Amino acid sequence: MERISWNQYFMAQSHLLALRSTCTRLAVGATIVRDKRIIAGGYNGSIAGGVHCTDVGCYVVDNHCVRTIHAEMNALLQCAKFGVPTEGAEIYVTHFPCLQCSKALIQAGIKQVYYAKNYKNHPYALELFDQAGVQVEQVEFDETTLDLKKNEKWDYVKQLLNHLAQLGVSEKELSQWNEQAIKLFKTRLFS
Ligand SMILES: [Zn+2]
Ligand SMILES: [Zn+2]
Repeated sequence: MERISWNQYFMAQSHLLALRSTCTRLAVGATIVRDKRIIAGGYNGSIAGGVHCTDVGCYVVDNHCVRTIHAEMNALLQCAKFGVPTEGAEIYVTHFPCLQCSKALIQAGIKQVYYAKNYKNHPYALELFDQAGVQVEQVEFDETTLDLKKNEKWDYVKQLLNHLAQLGVSEKELSQWNEQAIKLFKTRLFS
């Protein structure tokens, strides 16, 4: 097993949090980190005790679901609620933050934003981050990080591919199966 980087570790946490999202339109997760320690996390969902989009559908106004609090905001509010300073902290988000969240992050003193996927990246958000001296960096998340059985699955697929080769499947077909396996496992162990 390869040791994962801090960036992948915190990004994995945000992707786990996104699995708790209650909005059917988009699942977002955010993790606030200080000195390599997770100080808060959030996902997009309703206010505590409120009804969920997953149960009653989204509340859409102007093409936005207004029922949910965004992941970044939830993470910041968790800090506010429990009195945890966010000055100088970093945030890991699954998607590029919306304009409102971007402003809130700047105002809360977040100094570094790591995001996995581009999502309607607002040019004004980028401008404000730049103005405030907030570093913004895309960290592509390797989803196989969350698969604890990755190696066993990979070995199994390798066996199947070898078996196919023995059965006399054409080179062309074999390389197609192989390409697909490499895409899924993000590794090139099989050649
Ligand atoms: Zn919703
Ligand atoms: Zn937002």
